[in-house]
Amino acid sequence: MLVSITQVLIGATDLVAAFLFLFGLKRMSSPATAASGIRVAGIGMIAAVLVSFLYVFTISPAAASHLAVNLALAIVALGVGGGGAWMVGRRVAMTAMPQMVAIYNGMGGGAAGGIAAVELFSGRTPGLTQLIVTLLGGLIGAVSMSGSVIAWAKLQGVLGQPFRFKGQRIVNGLVFLVAILLGGWLVFTMLSAAAPFLPIPTGIILFFGVAICFGILMTLPIGGADMPVVISIYNAFTGLAVGLEGYVLGNPALMIAGMVVGAAGLLLTLLMARAMNRSVANILFSNFGTPPTKSKHSAITGTERETQASDAAIKMRYATSVIIIPGYGLAAARAQQKLFEFVKLLLAAKVIVRFAIHPVAGRMPGQMDVLLAEAGVPYDMIIQLDDINDDFATTDVALVIGANDVVNPAARTDKASPIFGMPILNADKAHQVYVIKRGQGKGYSGIVNALFYSPNCDMVYGDAQAVLVQMIEAVRGLGAAAA
Ligand code: NAP
Repeated sequence: MLVSITQVLIGATDLVAAFLFLFGLKRMSSPATAASGIRVAGIGMIAAVLVSFLYVFTISPAAASHLAVNLALAIVALGVGGGGAWMVGRRVAMTAMPQMVAIYNGMGGGAAGGIAAVELFSGRTPGLTQLIVTLLGGLIGAVSMSGSVIAWAKLQGVLGQPFRFKGQRIVNGLVFLVAILLGGWLVFTMLSAAAPFLPIPTGIILFFGVAICFGILMTLPIGGADMPVVISIYNAFTGLAVGLEGYVLGNPALMIAGMVVGAAGLLLTLLMARAMNRSVANILFSNFGTPPTKSKHSAITGTERETQASDAAIKMRYATSVIIIPGYGLAAARAQQKLFEFVKLLLAAKVIVRFAIHPVAGRMPGQMDVLLAEAGVPYDMIIQLDDINDDFATTDVALVIGANDVVNPAARTDKASPIFGMPILNADKAHQVYVIKRGQGKGYSGIVNALFYSPNCDMVYGDAQAVLVQMIEAVRGLGAAAA
């Protein structure tokens, strides 16, 4: 009786948790509801974790010999993992978010691989489907874990240049083949009565070892700048692995959570690739982000013209309309608060101000929306690329802050450019463009930006935060002088 009540309770909680995951995800699709969406999905996750403790009432007394130890281990693991994540999550800088996502994602993959390993080492004899699903989830989880750790190391600067050698793809292909063959051998050996030429536990260790090596080898040649897309791919892998292991454990909440993460990761990967006008294969197998040795793209003539922060600020103060284009440099300088302080001064002077957001501005999807929301910018001032691009031609000033590739006109005009075809924000069409950046530093793609040399563009050199402080002082100074 107790068992059946417990099972109904587990089933009902899993259903509620699944609903909360999906409802939370739906709310994450708008900046206005995203924060509450994360909380809703988090409540679902807590419910799914807590209800798993009820499984202790469903196991047979014979299997309960290690119950106390296992429960204690689970509680310690939850405390250490949850406590550590809480502390790191509170302190992490916005620019370090991609590497944090990478390492957490790796842990998810590792957890799925761990479940597979426990099942394989348990000595139980599963059916064919069960065994194949366990091995597949284990393989994908292990690849995702080691690949994500390499992605973290690259983003954190622990690993430097991409590691490439001749014939690398063939070597990687062979390593993958070995992992598949070992998996096939395990299926055959574990289901047949024939004496194995290798002890099965050794075969399992080799299988996971080779899968881990494949994840490392697959990620090492990819440039650090492409890591956000790679993390998104591994995110999809982890989701898939968790979903497969959820099937193995007969846990619907795990299956649904895994599939939701897998599908979201896949969609995000495709959207990021599309916004960069590149295929996923090109991201995984090309040397994008490595500065070209021989420049094939059109030569850019002219010089960058410098202006003072105060002059640019005063011009914007007397403009009718200003569109601001934030990029990676805004996040690096942590200048979002100062930017909004400056914008409030312009709004007080009746200037029409809007923010134009490129889908891949910054280093992770939605980074600019999050930064601006954090500074308190109202959502109706934040406009996405397709909805604002036509307005640049009738705008007095486009203010580019720490953005580069997302406003590079070469994407429209230069067929030889690595970013040709990527949709860009039409900042160059505004009557006047100001660009805040520290110097002649290139953007993520490593190419020169023709916009900086065009006659309607002036550069304001300096760290974005320092420049914005000067701009605020200049506009305030005007008010004080008028008083
Ligand atoms: P970007 O092209 O990388 O350019 C950023 C610019 O910011 C640099 O040119 C740099 O010039 C400047 N900068 C850096 N620190 C600064 C500071 N403290 N103050 C002022 N300026 C600073 O950035 P983006 O225009 O945002 O484009 C994003 C790029 O990342 C795209 O190519 C996109 O494809 C790629 N990407 C994005 C994602 C994503 O999900 N968002 C994922 C993967 C790749 P200085 O050094 O001269 O200051």
